[in-house]
Amino acid sequence: MIGLTDIEKRFGDNLVLKGVTVSIDEGSVTALVGPSGGGKSTLLRCINLLEIPTSGILRIGDETLAFRPGGKVPAADVQRVRLQTGMVFQNFQLFPHRTAIENVMEGLITVLKWSETRARERAMALLEKVGMAHKADAWPATLSGGQQQRVAIARALAPSPRVLLCDEPTSALDPELAQEVVDVLGQLAREGTTMVMATHDLRLASKIAQEVVFLDAGSIVEKGPASVVFDNPERERTKRFIASLR
Ligand code: ADP
Ligand code: MG
Repeated sequence: MIGLTDIEKRFGDNLVLKGVTVSIDEGSVTALVGPSGGGKSTLLRCINLLEIPTSGILRIGDETLAFRPGGKVPAADVQRVRLQTGMVFQNFQLFPHRTAIENVMEGLITVLKWSETRARERAMALLEKVGMAHKADAWPATLSGGQQQRVAIARALAPSPRVLLCDEPTSALDPELAQEVVDVLGQLAREGTTMVMATHDLRLASKIAQEVVFLDAGSIVEKGPASVVFDNPERERTKRFIASLR
């Protein structure tokens, strides 16, 4: 359902993604692991076109985009791809001057032009799903990190994206608060939400990911079923990295 073919991303002289090829099945959860600076965030940002790949091919649902150095990607194409992805960030990034429910409604109203009533109804259903309906009218600053992240997940899901992209969704949280986020993501996974998540959190990854991609210095070192990559990796490099997380 999502295919990346030979994706390269260059920042100036720095080749940050060196030809990444990966395919993601509908309903699957893929964990993106690897050392800091390896390109995990950049890869996620290339899927929703927060970064435009330097070259390669991105296929998402019915959209196929080919990139070449110096090429321009039409804004309409970017918009269509964005609508098929939802992004959850390490630091939640809720709009501080909007309540929890307004955060979830925002994109539905401004981008999809839904009516206020319809957006509110959908937002409330999503807040219920993440266990935050009781805080619908709360300001982000009054919520715990785990609560803010759950609202951010509801916001990312609002336009019914094909894939939920999560960039270190539990890294900013204490273990207890991380657990409530793991629980919500686990529930979404069981319901068949397609997800790609960069994470250092082995508990999160081994609980919900079926597929693991190990990315180091912009290249895939190893990929495969979580049971293999985590418990019985082929490559020495992967073994050492996994061991360092335990
Ligand atoms: P990870 O998420 O695995 O830690 P990143 O994707 O954040 O890795 O970073 C990979 C490399 O790309 C790093 O060397 C980082 O400095 C570089 N990088 C990321 N974003 C930018 C940017 N906007 N401009 C220049 N360099 C960047
Ligand atoms: Mg990162």
